[in-house]
Amino acid sequence: MVTSHKKRFFFLLTFLLLSFGVFAQSLKVGAAKRIITPNPLIPVSGGIGAPNPVTEKRGDLFARALVLENGNTRIAIVSVDNLGWTSVLGNKSRALIKGILPENVIIAATHTHSAPDAYGFPDETGTSYADLKHLDWCVIQIADAVNEAIKNLEPASLKIAMDEAKGKIAYNYYAPELYDPRCGVIQAIATSGKKKGQKIATLVNYAIHPEVLGSDRGILSPDLCGPLYDRIESKGGGMAIFLNGAQGGMVTADTRREESKEANTWEECIRIGELLGDESLRIIENAPILVNPSIYCVAKNLEIPIESDIMRYILKNSPLNYTFKKENNVETQVNLINIGPAQILTIPGEALPNIGYYLKRKMPTKYPFLFGLANDAFGYILTKEDFNSFKRYEYISRTSLGEMTADAYINHALELIKESPKP
Ligand SMILES: [Zn+2]
Repeated sequence: MVTSHKKRFFFLLTFLLLSFGVFAQSLKVGAAKRIITPNPLIPVSGGIGAPNPVTEKRGDLFARALVLENGNTRIAIVSVDNLGWTSVLGNKSRALIKGILPENVIIAATHTHSAPDAYGFPDETGTSYADLKHLDWCVIQIADAVNEAIKNLEPASLKIAMDEAKGKIAYNYYAPELYDPRCGVIQAIATSGKKKGQKIATLVNYAIHPEVLGSDRGILSPDLCGPLYDRIESKGGGMAIFLNGAQGGMVTADTRREESKEANTWEECIRIGELLGDESLRIIENAPILVNPSIYCVAKNLEIPIESDIMRYILKNSPLNYTFKKENNVETQVNLINIGPAQILTIPGEALPNIGYYLKRKMPTKYPFLFGLANDAFGYILTKEDFNSFKRYEYISRTSLGEMTADAYINHALELIKESPKP
């Protein structure tokens, strides 16, 4: 009888404490990373076609995980140094992650063009050259990074800022001025224990193609993301994590030199990566500290028709074995996340910058973040007006799911914004 009374008392006490939010309401953040560089090196891919052999590496490829928790909501933001990371692989990692709902795990690719083929691009004969064993190993490394970030969760405050990144970083290869110079930054700072006051992590959100080196120079590399991580970490920013934005058609690294020459060297990766790192730290430096910001996360699946012959061929013949709920339709996860005053939308591919501007304008926040190539990366996302229009857009129209992709995605995103609380 005594035990039962005691049990009841503790149950009541726990219930009351939880109701008053004594245990529940405090922000915690954890970060962890894993190297995913293949050893020995394997060929790298910058898109459709057989991967190119490499003889050296510049920097390591990483999976980087940031976990945030407040109350009953826990989310993971994961960035993978690769061209694109499909949900076929992402879901295998989600199944190995303990303590976060699969739909609250966002896995995005940085879009480096110098990493192994993670799509299993089939050639004309249907043969793929992707190293499936390596990809399975990456899947485990990604899950390990998230699981370690969960273990590392500690009380934290945040700083959030967004401003123009200055200097020669990105431009639009198709039309130089048509790109978004805004760089969003989220920084987590430890609020207790031995590391009190130290940075746990710095998240950088900026639209750019990390293709300074590209896939045909015999080099495996995170491209400009490597020097970006190193710069932020060496300046005490905690673990650096990069999330790309709406960088399609064709927002790329500004490697331009005189007489229409380009600097496609590792030194140029260092110049741009370090400059973006410095700009991110400048942008976040004087942001106010946010004590205990709330976290909201919702995921909703989006169906997109596959109209493109090339995309259909890749999806049907890839050894990754994509599954289709409906014939000629892909289904993908889109997330909306509020972190304090910021809102984040994920994009399952490479949206053109005009789409990025439109969505940011529709998000009810001063801090609109777009995580491109997130949860899936189904090629370019361009509006029906842009589709098959300029000669310049031939390539990106061909490597898009189809004419209605942007409409489907934008309407879905606007619904998510409308259904969600304002940040
Ligand atoms: Zn691209």
